[in-house]
Parts: sequence; C-alpha cells; structure tokens
Amino acid sequence: MRFGTKAIHAGVEPDPTTGAIMTPIYQTSTYVQAAPGDHKGYEYSRTHNPTRTALQNALAALENGRHGLCFATGMASIDAICKLLKPGDEVVSTNDLYGGTYRLFTKIFEGFGLKFKFVDMGDLRNVEAAITPNTKLIWAETPTNPLLKIIDIAGLAAIAKKQGCLLGVDNTFASPYLQNPLDLGADIIMHSVTKYLGGHSDVVMGALVVKDDALAERLAFIQNSSGATPGPQDCFLVLRGLKTLHLRMQRHCENGAVIADFLSKHPKVDRVYWPGLPAHPNHTVARAQMRGFGGMISFTLKGDRMEDATRVLSSTKLFSLAESLGGVESLLGHPASMTHASIPREERLRNGLADTLIRLSVGVEDAEDLVADLAQALG
Ligand SMILES: *Cc1c(COP(=O)(O)O)cnc(C)c1O
Repeated sequence: MRFGTKAIHAGVEPDPTTGAIMTPIYQTSTYVQAAPGDHKGYEYSRTHNPTRTALQNALAALENGRHGLCFATGMASIDAICKLLKPGDEVVSTNDLYGGTYRLFTKIFEGFGLKFKFVDMGDLRNVEAAITPNTKLIWAETPTNPLLKIIDIAGLAAIAKKQGCLLGVDNTFASPYLQNPLDLGADIIMHSVTKYLGGHSDVVMGALVVKDDALAERLAFIQNSSGATPGPQDCFLVLRGLKTLHLRMQRHCENGAVIADFLSKHPKVDRVYWPGLPAHPNHTVARAQMRGFGGMISFTLKGDRMEDATRVLSSTKLFSLAESLGGVESLLGHPASMTHASIPREERLRNGLADTLIRLSVGVEDAEDLVADLAQALG
C-alpha cells in the first residue's frame, strides 16, 4: 500500500459490534471478564484501549514498523526510551536539540546516573569520537530545530550497528510522509504527535515506533509501568488527523517552497534555512533521505537588530506568534526570546541562533496570502 492509502486505512477496522467505519472512542477504564482471565484482550485502559490500539497500529504502518506505542506527550515517549538505560550508560546526542529533550536529559536523567554527550552530528566523525564502550544510545533529531540542519541517518545507523547500541530518531519535524528512519537503519522512531501527525493544534501526544519485537515488549512494559498513556478521546482526534496527513504534508511542502523562494529574494532577509534550497549546506543529504522538504523555515534579518525582528513578529496577521508547529495554521516564533531563551546569549550566537532569527511553521493556507502577509510584515 502507498502512503496516502495507508494514512486513511492502516490500523483501522470497522467496529466489530456495529460496523461503524470510524473507530469508536472507547471511553472506558475497564473491561468485563466472563471468568477470571477470560477476556477479549483488554483488561484495563492503562495497559490497552481499543482506540489507542487502532492509532498505535496506524502509526506503526506509516513508519514501516511493526509496533507503535502512544504516550501522553512527546516528552513522555522520550522518557520511556531513557528508562531502557541504567546508571553508567552513555548517550550521544545532537547539540542542536529540542529544548525539552535537553532539559529531560540533563535535569532529570543525569541525576539517575545516565551520561549525555552533545555533538555536532553534521560531521559523523564527531559521533564516532564520542562513542565509548558504555554508549548504549545514539539520539538524533533531523531536521533540527530551529536551524533545519539535516543529519545522515544511515550514517548514524552504521555507527550504532558497529557499537551495538540503539539509534533513536526524533522524526517530529519530518513526519513519516517525508522520511522513515527505520528504513534507514534506526531502531526507534519518536514523534511529538502534537505536531504534524495530529496536525490541528488540538492534541498533545507522543509516540514511538519500532520493528524489533523484544524492544517493543520492553517499551510496552515501561509504557504500562510508568503509565503516561493518552486517553481515547485524544487517540480518536489523532486517528482523524492522520487521514489527511499526506494531503496536509503535500501542501506544507508546496507552501514551504514558495515562501523559502520569496524570503531568499527579499532585500531585508539575510539568511534562509530550508533544506530544499540548493544552497543549504546539507541539501544533498536531505535529497537522499527525505521525499520532500516540509514547511519549517527559519530566516534572519539583515542588520541583526533584535527590534527589527520584534517588529516583524508583531506585524503579521495570518502567521500567529506562538510556540509549537505542524498544524494547519501558520505560526511564527522567535527562538532567542521564546524556545531558546534559557540558553546564554553568547552560546546562542555561537550555535548560529542570531537575535533576528525567526522560525516559521508554514501552514496549509493559500501560499499567495501567506507571502502577502510576510511581505507587509517585512515592509
Ligand atoms: C514538541 C516537540 C517535542 C516534545 O513533544 P510534546 O508533545 O510537546 O511533549 C519533542 N521533539 C520535538 C522535535 C518537538 O518539536
């Protein structure tokens, strides 16, 4: 089955009791047993819930995996991965990492004896140099936030294989429509379902997808034991969102291309970060491992004055100033004062996060209207 057909049909069966084409919201905590242990595969909704099962199967199919596991939030799903590890184990991670993941690693799991190394994965020799016999996990995010760097997943997989450690990839920015890390050799895919998978800015959720049965069993044990599972109502909303994932992503990519082109030619814009631009430093890797380049774009203004950025950020009418991404509506944000404000200014600048850097999550509105909105705001 091709992607669009899977997005609509995978994991979803007509309801066995009524034939309802949409998976019902099984709003129940428990399930009646005919005799002790004689049940229909469902005992308690922390462990299993039919609406969640349908969603987990759909996500597994979209990522070409065998097992999907849903969590209350994206962070809860990364938390579950960390719980595969034990004190003394080491993780090699990207340095251009989602802020919440950096906080979870350094503020929570370092306290439980895990060690984290943050390296520039643009050059895989940095990853090899950071590996020790204690390395148990390589953790990557690609495209990265907010500079849209692209990391070579197959290259990382080769290193992980040689070391005998797991490779986990946060696939939130790409979505399974653009990239399938399991096919490139990753062991675990993580999604903030909140973003493109849900797609409508109305749910917070996370998910993992794996191929390996034993790994899935260990993660399901953690999922049930720690208990950060999503409710059936949210699972229903994401099942509904998935049905248009391919249509939305197609439009995100088309609009992304139009806006990246517009920004590249604008006299007030200095740099544009979008992996679809031939001038992007990782464009070749992006073309090799992605099927499109998505709707996440960052850019800086000439002159590097923070107040110029602030003026643009408060002048748009269609692009709303807000955290998050991946919804149908266009958003914009200012990493220096929003998502990355906790990083000291010198370090931010060293990592390429200028004061005038603006990040766009380009939605699925009409491109002409989005361009007109940016044109008036830059004007
Ligand atoms: C939002 C996000 C997360 C965290 O997910 P939540 O659903 O907000 O808990 C992790 N990684 C990336 C890349 C994200 O954008």
